[in-house]
Amino acid sequence: MNGDPADLRIPWPECGGENRFRAMSDASPLGIFVSDEQGACVYTNAAYHQLSGLTAEQTLGTNWSAAIHPDDRARVLEEWRAALRSDAPFRTEFRFLREDESIVWTRVNSAPLSDSKAPFSRVNTTEDISERKLAELALKAAENALFDERERARVTLNSIGDAVLTSDQEGRVSYMNQVAEAMTGWPCAEAIGRPLEEVFNIIDGITRHVDPNPAEQAIKENRTVGLAPACVLIRRDGVESAIEDSTAPIHDRDGQQAGAVTVFHDVSQSRAMALKMSHLAKHDFLTDLPNRVLLTERIALAIALAQRRRKQVALLFLDLDHFKYINDSLGHSIGDMLLLSAAERLLACVRNTDTVCRQGGDEFVILLAYIDQAQEAAHVAEKLLAEFSRPHLIDGRELYVTLSIGISIYPDDASSGDTAMQNADTAMYHAKTAGRNSYKFFRADMNSQAVRRQSVESNLRRALLNEEFVLFYQPQVDLVSSAIIGAEALIRWRDVDFGLLTPVQFISIAEESGLIVPIGHWVLREACRQTKAWQDAGLPIVPVAVNISAVEFRHKDFLDGVTRVLADTGLEPRYLELELTESILMIDAEASTSVLHALKHMGVQLAIDDFGTGYSSLSYLKRFPIDTLKIDQSFVRDLATDSDDATIVSAVIGMARNLKQRVVAEGVETNEQLVFLQERKCDAGQGYLFSHPLPAEDFALLLCTPPHRPHSPL
Ligand code: C2E
Ligand code: MG
Ligand code: MG
Repeated sequence: MNGDPADLRIPWPECGGENRFRAMSDASPLGIFVSDEQGACVYTNAAYHQLSGLTAEQTLGTNWSAAIHPDDRARVLEEWRAALRSDAPFRTEFRFLREDESIVWTRVNSAPLSDSKAPFSRVNTTEDISERKLAELALKAAENALFDERERARVTLNSIGDAVLTSDQEGRVSYMNQVAEAMTGWPCAEAIGRPLEEVFNIIDGITRHVDPNPAEQAIKENRTVGLAPACVLIRRDGVESAIEDSTAPIHDRDGQQAGAVTVFHDVSQSRAMALKMSHLAKHDFLTDLPNRVLLTERIALAIALAQRRRKQVALLFLDLDHFKYINDSLGHSIGDMLLLSAAERLLACVRNTDTVCRQGGDEFVILLAYIDQAQEAAHVAEKLLAEFSRPHLIDGRELYVTLSIGISIYPDDASSGDTAMQNADTAMYHAKTAGRNSYKFFRADMNSQAVRRQSVESNLRRALLNEEFVLFYQPQVDLVSSAIIGAEALIRWRDVDFGLLTPVQFISIAEESGLIVPIGHWVLREACRQTKAWQDAGLPIVPVAVNISAVEFRHKDFLDGVTRVLADTGLEPRYLELELTESILMIDAEASTSVLHALKHMGVQLAIDDFGTGYSSLSYLKRFPIDTLKIDQSFVRDLATDSDDATIVSAVIGMARNLKQRVVAEGVETNEQLVFLQERKCDAGQGYLFSHPLPAEDFALLLCTPPHRPHSPL
């Protein structure tokens, strides 16, 4: 057996105690070898032979270090040499390589032989410590594994996005991960041992009440509990965050409860997003007013409360008059701005317990909850109409838009929210038909009219194709000379089922459906054709006045249409007068001015119809190139009895004279009215006193009849 440090064969010392020593050492359970300073064995005992698997002959003279496992050898020899240098005992542990190459963990105790003289310098014991060593190694491995596991848990807990907080059985914080530290504002070291409520301070975000301690509940019920739905965590510095998650009880090895673990995460963003989504679902994107969905909910709630408190609920259905024309002529962005401005005004007119909703398009609904009498709804409607008499300043323009309002009252008019809505809608159409800029309460008979409306619309299309329309002509008479100075063309519809229908029964429907454009075009062409025909027949013709509705006036082809009709029929433009209402012109006064100038340029005459019923601004009136003002018949009707009306009519006549415009009084029915108008120097009159509107052939006869005074009803 060769090995470090030297392979020296040294005889066992001749000494008296040899036999005694041999006997003792052979009885020892420890392996014993005696070596020289280099490590060569001079004696080995029986236990050593057993440990090493070598015989005495094999061991003697060989260096004991040959049995050191190569991985341990350098270390052990270093220790050995150090011990030799200091002549001190030494102890080491290493893996012993047995003869059969198996390994035995051994401990060697080495001591110098103090009485010896070299070369028998050291006596060494070797002890098999494999069992202990293996146990130690197993323990070490277990410790490492535990450490690894703890470390893994720590890293895991700190790297997950959720906050984790544990509390003990007494409800005191025992651990927090980094997210929990950040979210609560408490460093773990400071939080440990404090009551959970102090560190994990949670409230109900809606009621602002303190939420129950989830750990207490989880422990008490021994199950996982979720946090309250609107849970809000208040950080140490007061900052709030919406949180979500759960708390579970913790059990020890024996299955005993040991506390609770609460896992939570910030849901502020998703909760805010959810709130936003639900807001969007219930509000109009443009005006941010409640939409139909929310309105339906509020109506149901208002009705339920009204029933209990014996109150009433009013629904006001509003439609902006002529909004479509603004949208079509000025563009959608102006239209949107107008809607926003309208929404603002509506809100300003109601209490904050009322609901203003945008139904879509230019339709709005106002819900007045808990009213005592229907009259309150009328007040609101009047306030709204007054509010809308002021122009809207949009993109540097003054836009006028009026409202038509229908009102329905629960429980008087309807037994449910749905019917109340339908009825308010129906009443709104009646307000429109009645000339717009007004409000109407629902009446039961309106429903049958609504059904009729529908059939009228489909019949109108047919009427256009079948040429069922005819024009009647009503003369305008000079109040001094009694001469016919003009004629107004008024449309009639000869319907197969309903007979002769007047414009009041179908014009608004034609306007709503857009059919007014082809119908109006037909009227214009027919009036011009007829007048030219009379002229060609040698009759003393007068200018023919044609009514133009807002939709036609705002239509992009309007000017072209007029030009074409005049060219096609050959009528001189001065024989055509166009009647427009103030409201049509005032919707967008600037745009109107340019269209009016273009018409004027063509040589066409212009009249303002129904003067006094709409809103007009005098400054615009001066700017519009108007030839004729037609005083609305509502003022003429009560001239004799209503001093206000008399004053208004006088003022309008005076004003028109100043503006060098001709004044025509509409609806002159009595001699008293005639005398009044003559005294005020009104230029002309139109009305049943002179003539009803007549079919073309009858009017032609009238044209041929010389004027006679005083004018008697024709
Ligand atoms: P308007 O332009 O103010 O026409 C005058 C209306 O007063 C006519 O009603 C006429 O028949 C009526 N009237 C005339 N004299 C008297 C009178 O002494 N007393 C009373 N109570 N009424 C009188 P009509 O023909 O039913 O037309 C009503 C409205 O329909 C017209 O009012 C006009 O705004 C519209 N309209 C008529 N024809 C057309 C048309 O071809 N196109 C358009 N867009 N609208 C038309
Ligand atoms: Mg007219
Ligand atoms: Mg009129």
